[in-house]
Amino acid sequence: MVTYLDHAATTPMRPQCTEAMLEFLGPRWGNPSGGHVLARAARRAVDEARDVVAAALGAEPGEVVFTGGGTEADNLAVAGVLAHQGGTAVCSAVEHHAVLRAVEALGGRVVGVHGDGRVDLDALDAALDSQVRVVSLMLANNEVGTVQPLAEAAALVAERVPGAVLHTDAVQGVSWLDVAALASPAHLVAVSAHKFGGPQGVGALVVRDGVVIEPQLRGGGQERDRRSGTHNVAGIVGMAAALAATVDERDATVEAVGVLRDRLADGLLAAIPGCTESGTRVTKVAGTCSLLIEGIESEALLVLLDREGLCATAASSCASGAAEPSHVLAAMGVPRALAYGSLRLSLGWTTTAADVDHALEVVPAAVAQLRERSAVPVLQ
Ligand code: PLP
Repeated sequence: MVTYLDHAATTPMRPQCTEAMLEFLGPRWGNPSGGHVLARAARRAVDEARDVVAAALGAEPGEVVFTGGGTEADNLAVAGVLAHQGGTAVCSAVEHHAVLRAVEALGGRVVGVHGDGRVDLDALDAALDSQVRVVSLMLANNEVGTVQPLAEAAALVAERVPGAVLHTDAVQGVSWLDVAALASPAHLVAVSAHKFGGPQGVGALVVRDGVVIEPQLRGGGQERDRRSGTHNVAGIVGMAAALAATVDERDATVEAVGVLRDRLADGLLAAIPGCTESGTRVTKVAGTCSLLIEGIESEALLVLLDREGLCATAASSCASGAAEPSHVLAAMGVPRALAYGSLRLSLGWTTTAADVDHALEVVPAAVAQLRERSAVPVLQ
């Protein structure tokens, strides 16, 4: 039996998505940029998908730019604005590397967060000057689940640097939050299909009307010249189907998963001495249980959990296997030694009570086994 508690890394595809995609992996293979009957049919499918994605994200269809995933959407946002306007970028220290590395590569500024993972608005204020052309603040964090105060940040940016562009990486928000409402103050909004029951390798960037970005991929001029490259028709159609299902079921999923997550987190906190939760639960999305466990190393823990059929990760999946502990936990002030003992269990639309029961059984046992091996006493 495999228990999958790694939905923040990727999610199982929703059946509506698989079904929608199959047609475009088989009988309907046209290139939407062409002029004949098969091309027109493919273009119609992309247009319909665009309408669905736009409605779900609170955008106009013409504002949706399809990309090859969240990383590309984030890079396009940051680099696209700076290439057009010049100036510099600012982002929070807990952004996904897709934003953080793009900002750093362009010489931008990184601002700190509070202990709960929420951006320090005073530090943001101090980083804003007339040089700043784009500010990037994620909607929800991938490691800890923290939801950022986007509206407050947007108001601050608008007041301090009118004309600067606000980008939000909403990749981890779509399954849990009303992105159409919460991301409405942002000029640019990035999403990725595989985080909400869609396929990997496809995403979108909402570029609000009037905001100009310089394309980062040049070629045939697709996506109104904002992202060249033949459309991934099956992926785009699948993303739209997954997004529609996610939005339809979101309230019920948030409620059900929130109950499961709380039972899981409370159960593990009670069963494992020297275990704390990172972040503050009230400011986190419903699916994330992020723990810090004293006296163990996450990599060793993950090996034991994997043997028990439990799929989990340390901090972010991109960072797992890396020698450095998570940059997110470091920014939140978690001591380095403790950050090495991080465990992220992320729930999602397929998670059941049996998954939680399995985790409650195997995680405390695996931690105890590791501590026994190293015989490091843990203060209760
Ligand atoms: N942004 C966040 C917050 C993420 O969690 C991820 C993926 O882990 C990405 C961006 C990158 O998205 P993709 O995997 O589609 O490139």
